[in-house]
Amino acid sequence: MSVLVVGSVALDSVETPFGKAENVIGGSGTFFSASASLLAPVMLVGVIGDDYPVEQLDPLRARGVDMAGLEQVTGESFRWRGRYRHDLNAAETLETRLGVFSHFSPKIPPQFKDAPYVFLANIDPRLQLDVLRQVNRPKLVACDTMNFWIESRRSDIVELIKHVDLITLNDGEARQLTDCSNLVKAARWIMAHGPRIVIIKKGEHGAFMFKERSIFFAPAYPLEDVFDPTGAGDSFAGGFMGYLARTGDLSDENLRRAVVVGSAMGSYAVEKFSVQRLLEITREDITARVAEFRQLVAFEQEQGSST
Ligand code: AMP
Repeated sequence: MSVLVVGSVALDSVETPFGKAENVIGGSGTFFSASASLLAPVMLVGVIGDDYPVEQLDPLRARGVDMAGLEQVTGESFRWRGRYRHDLNAAETLETRLGVFSHFSPKIPPQFKDAPYVFLANIDPRLQLDVLRQVNRPKLVACDTMNFWIESRRSDIVELIKHVDLITLNDGEARQLTDCSNLVKAARWIMAHGPRIVIIKKGEHGAFMFKERSIFFAPAYPLEDVFDPTGAGDSFAGGFMGYLARTGDLSDENLRRAVVVGSAMGSYAVEKFSVQRLLEITREDITARVAEFRQLVAFEQEQGSST
């Protein structure tokens, strides 16, 4: 089954303690597509300006990302400039230029409207809502957001989450959206406002999946070299949704596996700048890393032990 994603298709300029990249391809829709397309067919909806190096999207197309919903219009592409200091968990946004995104109105091509899995990646929540009005009863709708939109469009996000099954956020964003410093309470607050599944990512400290009656935790892969954290969240979401679309199974056990696949994809994304690493890896690499995750948390409780 396929996944429809709407998100930013950006030019990123990133500075990390290990180097700099200027105007490389990025954006929430791009990272998501690069990740999810390793697992399932992807349909991308977004907008780029006439300055976008479209040929750099060819490897995604070759991997089965359908770009019939990617509009190219006159004007400047969305640009994001960010910096990471030694705490690689926190991106510092230096500049956000919406460019052609400020006048964008997503049009879902008719052949995309029946997509069973829909991911509303990080963009203006009013555009995310607009997409939801155009699709036909997906099996699962998930969304993401970030501090930039929580600060400027909080009420639109609260409206949006009434209509989604699942939301992914990082810990800082969950606290900011809900005003709860405790993450369990923050997840409860979000569930009370719509989504029945809340995934809170904590960067190098792993990710929690909250449901009404259960909490699941997956660690982050202990990488020795994190080169550039940009896109980790979107790659996580791509792995998670791609796995669900490939398996078509929304049982609790399978959602847990999807969280681990998401964590594996996030860990690959941060090994190089932009989508470079995601374009190198294969399904076998994903399987190998998922097996390492299993090893990471496997232990036997001592028989007859009281602990
Ligand atoms: P993450 O997975 O959270 O690291 O997301 C990184 C991507 O988000 C970058 O490639 C940026 O281009 C994109 N991005 C940054 N700010 C925004 C924004 N306000 N709206 C949409 N996308 C953004």
